[in-house]
Amino acid sequence: MTSDQLSFDRSHLWHPYTSLSKPLPVYPVASASGATITLADGWELTDGMASWWCAVHGYNVPELNAALQEQTLKMSHVMFGGFTHEPAVELGRRLVDITPAGLNKIFLADSGSVSVEVAMKMAVQYQHAKGGRQRSKFLTFRGGYHGDTTGPMSVCDPDTGMHGLFSGFIPTHHFVGRPPGGFSAPVDAAYVAELEEVFSACAAKCAAFICEPVVQGAGGMHFYNPAYLRIVNDLCTKHGLLLIFDEIATGFGRTGVMFAAEHAGFTPDIMCLGKALTGGYMTLAATLCTDEVADVIGQSEARVLMHGPTFMGNPLACAVAVASIDLLLASPWQKRVSTLSENLSLHLRPAARMGAVKDVRVLGGIGVVETHEPVDVAKAQAFYVARGVWIRPFGTRIYLMPPYIVSAEETRKLCRVILEELESRSQDAPTAAPGS
Ligand SMILES: *Cc1c(COP(=O)(O)O)cnc(C)c1O
Repeated sequence: MTSDQLSFDRSHLWHPYTSLSKPLPVYPVASASGATITLADGWELTDGMASWWCAVHGYNVPELNAALQEQTLKMSHVMFGGFTHEPAVELGRRLVDITPAGLNKIFLADSGSVSVEVAMKMAVQYQHAKGGRQRSKFLTFRGGYHGDTTGPMSVCDPDTGMHGLFSGFIPTHHFVGRPPGGFSAPVDAAYVAELEEVFSACAAKCAAFICEPVVQGAGGMHFYNPAYLRIVNDLCTKHGLLLIFDEIATGFGRTGVMFAAEHAGFTPDIMCLGKALTGGYMTLAATLCTDEVADVIGQSEARVLMHGPTFMGNPLACAVAVASIDLLLASPWQKRVSTLSENLSLHLRPAARMGAVKDVRVLGGIGVVETHEPVDVAKAQAFYVARGVWIRPFGTRIYLMPPYIVSAEETRKLCRVILEELESRSQDAPTAAPGS
């Protein structure tokens, strides 16, 4: 990549959540393979992010490359209105097989956010069909993240999300505090009482409860006891709400089980999948629901589910998703994730003793170091890159979710560089210039 291209990028291309007036630095990537990302100048980085939960098999995976190449030679795309094709059907079959029992109906969407939009529309159409015209609101935990289009934005955390900035534009919904932290922490009776109270107060206006099961991702890398999901499920049943699990981040093994719903031990009414669905190759997502949800919508006045993206069921994306699921199922993924988990725990543990650190937590293939002070992203990232790792912290969260194929040595290196960066902060502290 030339310096001219890089300067074009700085002047013209928005990156996620950035400014074009004051762009943050970006690093030009030439290629990626396994758990290694190679920059344009040849410098190699060990990947700690799996490109935001997606690249569970790592990069440049022969099986996925082959699936894409084969499908390209047949057809890259045809409209899904009036046509169907083998990649979509085979993907559907696998999703019905591997997701919690009862999720038999599938809507293929273009991205995670769109799958959440579809889930929300499904829930509203279902309730309206059942005569609940007043049920057009949603109830959700604070601290959640469900995507960047307007429907999902409206159920993201109201404080750290974009509610203030977009007030008047996005609809308002109902929030309840998020469950207390800790996957194995005992159930807090006071919190359960709060849940019951909030349901009693607003459930009659709500179509569904939506949440990320067990792990709230971009809203704070917060882990909670799956027992709360069973309580929420009971409250949904009692008050006539559907329950939507957003498993876009947690799906496909990341928390140690194939879907985080398995920790809770029941099937939600609707479930969203995305991110690792194609092994990080292409954008694709899916909204699954039970027969009951689909039947009620089908027998409603509208009869149809009112959504249909142009690139729905894209054959290339479906073909690579099929190959990715097959590869995952054929791999020792449970063993890999549990080994990754042990290594993250072992090598991140020393951070817990550092003054700058508030908490260290690990669940499945996710390792989180929470600090007291927010990180200077550009500065931390330069530190990481100089030491050969790719980690992108946000706010007070430094986190790792490497590809499952990462080696023990690579995991150790990722953790070691996090510790070094934290140590360097305490050395800087007395002399750091304001805003540096
Ligand atoms: C990433 C994410 C989304 C949004 O997915 P996009 O593909 O970025 O639209 C929604 N929900 C959760 C839990 C996510 O992690």
